[in-house]
Amino acid sequence: MRRVSNCIFCAIVRGDAAAARVYEDDDLLAFLDIRPVTRGHTLVIAKPHAERLDDLAADVGSRMFALGHRIALALGRSDLAADGSNLVLNDGPAAFQTVPHIHLHVIPRHHGDRLRFVKGLLLRRGGETDTTAALIRDGLTRMEQP
Ligand SMILES: [Zn+2]
Repeated sequence: MRRVSNCIFCAIVRGDAAAARVYEDDDLLAFLDIRPVTRGHTLVIAKPHAERLDDLAADVGSRMFALGHRIALALGRSDLAADGSNLVLNDGPAAFQTVPHIHLHVIPRHHGDRLRFVKGLLLRRGGETDTTAALIRDGLTRMEQP
């Protein structure tokens, strides 16, 4: 698996940097954004290092989106009770990609949260990460139940 030593997301994959993990399998990892726009803001990455969409195999990109889709639904079923979500992928510095390891943002939204969302975009302040990650994992578990 390709990993880059100075990449913060590769360090998270290796376990050398801390992250509140929401989901993990052999190929994918989802964890809370350390600077969330809203509570529960999750990042989905493929474990092998790929900087841009151009470096990402199409099937891996599909799996990233499928996981983002599942997490978006889990946010609604969790006690975070999201009413909706923004799934956003910023490809390249021109599109505000800030970490050079391609990632999909899943940002939970609530009805009437426009002001809180704009404030979150400016402040990007975290907190309660362990509790929040546990709530999302609960949401994923609820999805697996009939
Ligand atoms: Zn990386």
